[in-house]
Formats: sequence, C-alpha cells, structure tokens
Amino acid sequence: MVTAPPLAAFAWLRHGFGTRNSEPLTGRVATLRQTHSDLVWSVRQSVGCLGDGDAMITDEPGLLLAIRTADCVPILLADPVRKVVAAVHAGWRGTVAGILTQTVGQMSTDYGTNPLDVVAAIGPAIGPCCFEVGADVPLPVVDRKANLWVANRKQLEQTGVGSIWVAEQCTMCEPETFFSFRRAKDTGRMVSAIGIRD
Ligand SMILES: [Zn+2]
Repeated sequence: MVTAPPLAAFAWLRHGFGTRNSEPLTGRVATLRQTHSDLVWSVRQSVGCLGDGDAMITDEPGLLLAIRTADCVPILLADPVRKVVAAVHAGWRGTVAGILTQTVGQMSTDYGTNPLDVVAAIGPAIGPCCFEVGADVPLPVVDRKANLWVANRKQLEQTGVGSIWVAEQCTMCEPETFFSFRRAKDTGRMVSAIGIRD
C-alpha cells in the first residue's frame, strides 16, 4: 500500500493507495460502477455499489470510500476542518470533464468545505513517461505524451485546494508493484480507499 504523508498525519482518518499485493478491504465499503464521468456522490449510510459515478464524498465515520484503478488516477481528499473525505477516479476523460473541480465543489455545497482547507493526494497512475495519446485526447501533449499527474494537480490548484501531494509513481514503469491496463490488457485493478475512523 502507498500512503500519502500529509494524509497519514491525520489520526482521525485511514487511507491508502492499493498495489497489486494489497489485501482486500474489509468492513463497510462503498464503491461505484466507474464510467469515466464527472458524477459525484455524497454518501450517507450506504454500502456496496451505489451506482454509476466516479467520485464519492462522506462525513460518516466507519465508512470506507473505495475506487479501482490500473493506470487511471486515484485521488484521495480530506477536509480536516469539517472532517470530510472523498475518493476520486480520474482517467483522461474524467480529468478533461473536471471531476476534481466537481468533487471539491460538491464538498463545499454539501458539507461546507473551504477548498483552502483541503489536503489532496494524487496516487500512483500512468506517468508522463508512458502515457502516449492520440489527437482524441484534449490535454497538453509533449512528445506525444500527456501528463495526468500535472493535469489533475493544476485542476486542484485552480479549485483553490490548499495542499497537494503527488505520488509520482508510474503504474506502467513498476510492474512488480502495480497493475497496468496499458501494459497488460487483462490485468487486475488496484483498490484505493479513504475513510473516517469510528
Ligand atoms: Zn512510466
């Protein structure tokens, strides 16, 4: 499991970015049928698969928000003032659709979050070393490669998020640690999760 030091500093929450060796999650877990959308769920007292969407927010203790990735970007967010957490799945489509902007916006409207208070962690995902894209991907491209780490960091900055940590670990470059959809199409998925301790 990969942890983000700025989130690990909060004793009231638990979080982790899964690797191919991570144990399955136990307890009360909420998940989504991920569709590369900008759909965000505010979750209260629900467990299991909630429906279509790519981000979840909760302020409920004891509930884990879990998303699955293998090259797409997992992002975990925490507001230590309002004690609210969020988990986001952002592939290039979700990135372009502005799912992080939507998520932070919904944290504000539904939970009273001030973006400046938000601590964000961008987890292991395909890096600018490997993410070769075609003209169909409307992101800045250098040597035919796009940078999802930077695109999502910029989106958080523009939303006013106060603290942003980036793992800078490429899922395609580290086959011993991570599944990679691009490297092996029939691969598994890593589970990343965040929740408030009971
Ligand atoms: Zn790479």
